[in-house]
Amino acid sequence: MGKKITCPDCKGTGMKETTETCGTCNGSGQVEIIDDYGKTRKVKCYPCRGTGKINDTDICGMCGGSGEIEV
Ligand SMILES: [Zn+2]
Ligand SMILES: [Zn+2]
Repeated sequence: MGKKITCPDCKGTGMKETTETCGTCNGSGQVEIIDDYGKTRKVKCYPCRGTGKINDTDICGMCGGSGEIEV
């Protein structure tokens, strides 16, 4: 048995923030819609709020969410 140290990957929080490309707009931040006149318009993508990226929080893979690892 080794000793336990604070996980360096998540700094002991057990959670990691991940940034993924938005699947709705494929990272462009804009989606095309067809308006009432049949014209294509670009509008801000709603799920990513126009950033093209989605921030998510995931359980840290290195420590499995405990915030510590054995060395
Ligand atoms: Zn988007
Ligand atoms: Zn961790």
